[in-house]
Amino acid sequence: MSIEKGLPTGFNPDCYDAIVVGAGYAGATCARRLAESCGFKVCVLERRDHIAGNAYDYEDEAGILIHKYGPHIYHTVNDRVNEFLSRFTEWTDYQHKVLANIHGTLMPVPFNHRSLKLAFGDEKGERLYQKLVDTFGENKKVPIMELREKNDPDLVEVADYVYENVFLHYTMKQWGQTPDQIDPSITGRVPVFVGDDERYFPQAPYQGMPAEGYTVLFEHMLEHDLISVFLDVDARDILKVSETSVSVCGRPYGGEIIYTGPLDELFNLDLGALPYRTLDMVFETLDCDQFQPVGTVNYTTSENFTRITEFKNMTGQVVPGKTTIMKEYSKAYEPGSGQDPYYAILEDENLELYRRYRARVEDLVNFHCVGRLAEYRYYDMDGVVASALDLSDEIIAQHS
Ligand code: FAD
Repeated sequence: MSIEKGLPTGFNPDCYDAIVVGAGYAGATCARRLAESCGFKVCVLERRDHIAGNAYDYEDEAGILIHKYGPHIYHTVNDRVNEFLSRFTEWTDYQHKVLANIHGTLMPVPFNHRSLKLAFGDEKGERLYQKLVDTFGENKKVPIMELREKNDPDLVEVADYVYENVFLHYTMKQWGQTPDQIDPSITGRVPVFVGDDERYFPQAPYQGMPAEGYTVLFEHMLEHDLISVFLDVDARDILKVSETSVSVCGRPYGGEIIYTGPLDELFNLDLGALPYRTLDMVFETLDCDQFQPVGTVNYTTSENFTRITEFKNMTGQVVPGKTTIMKEYSKAYEPGSGQDPYYAILEDENLELYRRYRARVEDLVNFHCVGRLAEYRYYDMDGVVASALDLSDEIIAQHS
C-alpha cells in the first residue's frame, strides 16, 4: 500500500481498475478484496486526513487511545465478517456493559434483575423480578409492550418505569423529539432483560476491541501492493456522475467505482439534503485512574449530553493517573457546516428522497453504492463489512 496526501500531478485514473471513494469499512473491505481476488489496481480516495472512517482511533496528548468519532465496540454473529476482519487484527476479550445514570444511581441497561432492585429497593425489586420470571421465564429479553399487554399492575409499573427513566428522555435528547413524535412501535420494543447477564451484546459470539486499535486494523487491511490511498482528496473534485455516465478527471471512466460517501452530496443536494443527526463530542482528560465503572454510562434522566464514554475502560489500556472521557451532545446535522452526518433519520419522506437519488445511479453498471452514507441507513461495523463482502463477491464474479 502507498498512502499519499493529495493527488499527484498528472494523476491518471485509467491506471486503476477500480476507484474507491472512502477509506472506512465499506471502502477498505472492497479495496482489499478487489486487489487480492481480481488482481485489480485500486485507488482509494479519502477526504479526511486519515484512514478508518468513523472507526478512526489515535492516542491523545495524554497517550490514551481514543475514538475520534465516538466509541466503537466490535460485536458480530457473522462468521464470515469475523474471519475476514481477524486476518488484520487480534482481538481483546472486552465485553461491553452499559449503565444508565437514573437520578444519580447507576443501573445496568438493558434493565435487568439488578436494575430492578436498584430502582424499586431489594424487596420489591425481587418480587417484581420473580413475577417477570414466572411470566416470561429466565434469560429472556421482553419488550415493554409485552409487559403492558399482560395487564398486570406490577408488570405495567416496570414497563412505565423503564419507558420514563431509561428510554424517553434519552431518546428525546438523541433524536431531538418531543414525546408525541416518538414512534410508538419503537417505544414498545424497549427491552427488559429477565436475568442477571449485564453484557450489552450477550448474543454476539465474537466481541472485543482490536488489540492495537481500529486504525492499525485498517492499515493492515489496506496493506497490499495493488492498493494506493490518497488522503485529503474530495472525490467530488474529480468524479462526475449523471444518470448515463461516470467520468473521472473529465474523461469517461470504464473501471469500477465503489462509492461510500453521501449520495445527495454527489448531486450537490439538488433534490434537497438527506436529514441526519450529528454529535458534538467533548473530550476531557482527567487526573485520575478511572472516572466511571464501565465503558459507557447513559444519562437517561438528566444532563444535556446523552452519554459519557471512558476509553480506557473499553480498550483495557493502562495509563496510570490519567483517563480521557467523552460526552456526546446530539443535534441536527447541517450540510456544509463542517459537521459529520452520523445517524440517518429513517422517516418515510427521507427514505423517499434517498430513493430518488439512488434511482439516478441504478443504471450505471460500474457505479456501486455501499456503506452507511451511500445507502442512507444505520449499520454496525459488521453489517457494513458484510455488505461490502457481498458487493465485492458480485464484482469479482463479473470479472472472473
Ligand atoms: P464511514 O466509516 O463513515 O466511512 C466513509 C468514508 O468516506 C469517510 O471516511 C468519509 O470521509 C469518506 N468520504 C465520504 N465522502 C467522500 C468524498 N466525497 N470523497 C472522499 N471521501 C469521502 N458500529 C459498531 O459496530 N459498534 C459500535 O460501537 C459503533 N458505534 C458507533 C458510534 C457512533 C457515534 C457512530 C456514528 C457509529 C457507530 N457505529 C458502531 C457504526 C460504524 O461507525 C459504522 O458502521 C461504520 O463506520 C460505517 O463504515 P462506512 O465505511 O460505511 O462509513
